[in-house]
Amino acid sequence: MDFSLSSEQIAIRDTCRAFAEQEIKPLAEALDATGTFPSELIRKMGELGLLGLPFPEEFGGAGADFLAYCIALEEISRGDVSVGITMEAHTSLGTSPFFLFGSPGQKARFLPSLARGEQLWAFGLTEPEAGSDSGATQTRAVLHDGLWHINGSKAFITNAGTDMTAGVTITAVTGQLPDGRKEITNVIVPRGTPGYTIGQPYKKMGWKASDTRPLAFEDCMVPEENILGKRGDGFKQFMQILDAGRVAIAALSVGLAQACLDEALSYAKQRKQFNQPISKFQAIQFKLADMDTEIELARLMYYKAAWLQMQGKPYTREASMAKLFASETAKRAADQAVQIHGGYGFMDEYPVSRYWRSVKVNEIGEGTSEVQRLVIAKLLGC
Ligand SMILES: Cc1cc2nc3c(=O)[nH]c(=O)nc-3n(C[C@H](O)[C@H](O)[C@H](O)COP(=O)(O)OP(=O)(O)OC[C@H]3O[C@@H](n4cnc5c(N)ncnc54)[C@H](O)[C@@H]3O)c2cc1C
Repeated sequence: MDFSLSSEQIAIRDTCRAFAEQEIKPLAEALDATGTFPSELIRKMGELGLLGLPFPEEFGGAGADFLAYCIALEEISRGDVSVGITMEAHTSLGTSPFFLFGSPGQKARFLPSLARGEQLWAFGLTEPEAGSDSGATQTRAVLHDGLWHINGSKAFITNAGTDMTAGVTITAVTGQLPDGRKEITNVIVPRGTPGYTIGQPYKKMGWKASDTRPLAFEDCMVPEENILGKRGDGFKQFMQILDAGRVAIAALSVGLAQACLDEALSYAKQRKQFNQPISKFQAIQFKLADMDTEIELARLMYYKAAWLQMQGKPYTREASMAKLFASETAKRAADQAVQIHGGYGFMDEYPVSRYWRSVKVNEIGEGTSEVQRLVIAKLLGC
């Protein structure tokens, strides 16, 4: 068993670590306070190739492997998790469906500008009445005279309304299967299509500098060819997208957990009580040691899930385990980081206060912790 990273993975990690430290971290507090989407920063990341890491160069991507992309996400999220989720939602949810399931024409039309990070794309699965039960989609698309007529709504869609966003791919019910279940198809809806309304951004507890919006479709019409892959393949496709997305969210969570440890360790070494740095108290040392141990374990879990994905082996179980454990590790790390800061940790001028607010959603997005446990239990044969 070889745990060493390739020279390319190390180079991507180091580039992202330096970029996060120099370009992202200094802006993070102000972006959070004002809830500003950092277009300029995201464009810069596009120019560096960070918004198309796992796609081949022929489509405008960087040609990196999936683990390198996840490591990049860890480092970017260590700088700021709002920027991390913008990168993740664009790459894993927005762009990868075109790469995995798009026709040659769709790949040629959409992939290059998305992989180069000139434009962003969103994926709309969740609806006001269909969250964890994503197969309960109510949005309908009816084929009539060569056009899909779409009616319905989506909730909590990341990157849907930034000034760089070019469109969204949505799940829609396009018919009924012989066994009575819904036939679900993924439909491509470019921004500006009449009948497609992008709502105002939500006011959120964390991830404040990322863009999250409700979407509405009212007699919205797109050409017949705007479906992704085969009609009726939507459910299968988004399950595949979510498997990889969960490994990516695990990496993002490890990045945030590491940021919590970075801040807590540095604070513990300089904060003095009872005439010595609090890092000299065993109670504080044990908190830091537990954080470091859990973060390392969570990192190894997403490395293994990413490795399985790259080998073409089944990895649904490992993806769910990595997402579940890493998001809960990050929550514990944020909690302990605030505790180690004492009262200062409760003040917005300390990053750990922001980390604590942002960490919660990692246990919710791309499948809640309960849903991950259901996936793992199902694979146990329950
Ligand atoms: C900031 C943010 C960004 C997001 N971005 C996107 C995006 O880009 N695209 C997208 O499609 N979606 C996105 N989502 C939606 C996200 O994936 C959903 O919020 C999530 O899947 C949960 O769905 P829900 O919110 O409807 O909760 P519900 O499904 O209503 O769940 C409520 C509670 O019930 C529990 N529960 C539900 N069913 C079961 C069960 N069978 N057994 C046990 N417990 C259960 C859940 O775990 C949860 O605790 C985003 C959400 C947020 C908050």
